[in-house]
Amino acid sequence: MAYQLVQLDIQATDNIQCPHCRQQVINWAEEQYVQPCEHTLFIAMDIGFEYITDEFEQTMRRTVDDLHANDDQVSVIAELMAAQYPEFTIYQSDLGIEGYSRYIGFTA
Ligand SMILES: [Zn+2]
Repeated sequence: MAYQLVQLDIQATDNIQCPHCRQQVINWAEEQYVQPCEHTLFIAMDIGFEYITDEFEQTMRRTVDDLHANDDQVSVIAELMAAQYPEFTIYQSDLGIEGYSRYIGFTA
């Protein structure tokens, strides 16, 4: 398996740190709260992508544009898990909406 799924036990309003450089990649103190660092591969939610590197997108079976165009039929987490990127970690956290999660991918 290429990925490892880590469930973060945090609130939807908590910042999320990169495990490598400790940058707050979700930082609610910033107007633009998505602050990807060099280790961030993607920042996604069940309802769409906020950030993705070209390198990671190329390993997915469908493009982000295609996923967004068909967002009523696709599962973001299933597409992330199907990516052929060699090794990565998915941090899953509660989005604060019943049944919805945020997914952040970091290099392993
Ligand atoms: Zn980092």
